[in-house]
Amino acid sequence: MRFEGLELERYREPQEGSRIVFRDGKMEVPDDPVIPYVEGDGIGVDITPVMKRVLDRAVHKAYGGKRRLVWWEIYAGQKAMDLFGTAIPKDSFTALRYFRVGIKGPLTTPVGGGFRSLNVAFRQELDLFACVRPVRWFDGVPAPLKRPQDVDMVVFRENTEDLYAGIEWEMGTEEAGKVIRFLRDMGKEVREDSGIGIKPISKTGTERLVRMAIRYALDNKRKSVTLVHKGNIMKFTEGAFMKWGYELAKREFGDLTVTEQEVMELHQGVVPEGKVVIKDRIADAMFQQILLRPSEYHVLAMPNLNGDYMSDALAASVGGLGLAPGANMNDQVAFFEATHGTAPKYAGQDKVNPGSLILSGVLMLEHLGWREAAELVVRGMEGAIRDGIVTYDLARQREGAKEVSCSAFGEAVCERM
Ligand code: NAP
Repeated sequence: MRFEGLELERYREPQEGSRIVFRDGKMEVPDDPVIPYVEGDGIGVDITPVMKRVLDRAVHKAYGGKRRLVWWEIYAGQKAMDLFGTAIPKDSFTALRYFRVGIKGPLTTPVGGGFRSLNVAFRQELDLFACVRPVRWFDGVPAPLKRPQDVDMVVFRENTEDLYAGIEWEMGTEEAGKVIRFLRDMGKEVREDSGIGIKPISKTGTERLVRMAIRYALDNKRKSVTLVHKGNIMKFTEGAFMKWGYELAKREFGDLTVTEQEVMELHQGVVPEGKVVIKDRIADAMFQQILLRPSEYHVLAMPNLNGDYMSDALAASVGGLGLAPGANMNDQVAFFEATHGTAPKYAGQDKVNPGSLILSGVLMLEHLGWREAAELVVRGMEGAIRDGIVTYDLARQREGAKEVSCSAFGEAVCERM
């Protein structure tokens, strides 16, 4: 057996490559990491091979033969159904836990299957508590913002609490009545004909998310982390998110961070060299800020619901979700993904835009610490889009653009690295 402790039921273990390990809490990436990947349903067959080719070319260009990604296919969705009779074989979870970094195409939720959503199943099973979405603009992409080039933010959205752990009782049910009577005993009046919803936000959940966001800002030399909340209304959930976030920043990163208030009161408005500014904004104000003053924001950390709206609004502000990359991660495992769906009507036509998955691959390369390769892919994407060599979705919005296939777009990216 090549990989000690890798217990697979149905998959054959990878025949080459090495495992990413953690030593003293730090990730150590070999030169030939095994990368488990899920091709994905629908247009997965089109975009996933293109993403792999583009990343391979970038890695080769950046490091010669010294480094390479060892792709290892794991299964979920229809392909898993066809091969193993289940939408996600247990081995897929095992593989991600063991190899720690993976990437996936979009997945259809099988109707009548055991899972609410396969994406949610991955998140829950692996406790991937942060949904990470970088948002930036590419020159040549039509965008509603006047200065989309000012948008360069990374959203860290909490993935396990708040609305995602929401508990509800329908109006008129015995349970709703019980809760209403209980609340009355607690001195709180709620109308009899109310539905009841509860959203928990914990200190544990908040701290691990904010910690990850601050670490990211430090590692990637981002100037600020903004805690986005509705603490003016809900003090002990939304407000606590902010309070616990500030406390954690002070306790664990006190010498590396400074609050916005401290910048004003102690440093005459000038951020001390090398420090990340911690600030907070109320969610509705933040929606204005991303439109009016985006250049003042770099990393955003927020509870689930705020993050849901904000990620999509930000992506729309720079030209839509089609190019938005994403990842779900915890401190041990990171699973990168295209943020769009399976677009079944285009499946197998070599037509759609592989940009979202390619950029998720960039995020993955950055996560591995392979920055040179990540930069090459970005340069290739910038070049192709700037030159107007784009897939149908961008071509239809842009006069004079040359519409190419999914794979030809990948080639255009490679040629411009
Ligand atoms: P969708 O697959 O994202 O497709 C909606 C439309 O978005 C497409 O018809 C197409 O627009 C455009 N589009 C999506 N991906 C594109 C790409 N790569 N390049 C160019 N255009 C693209 O959303 P949906 O139709 O609502 O969902 C279909 C299935 O995907 C569902 O089963 C859903 O559950 C699943 N889904 C999965 C994920 C995931 O795995 N992360 C996320 C969302 C949805 P035009 O028709 O205008 O060309």
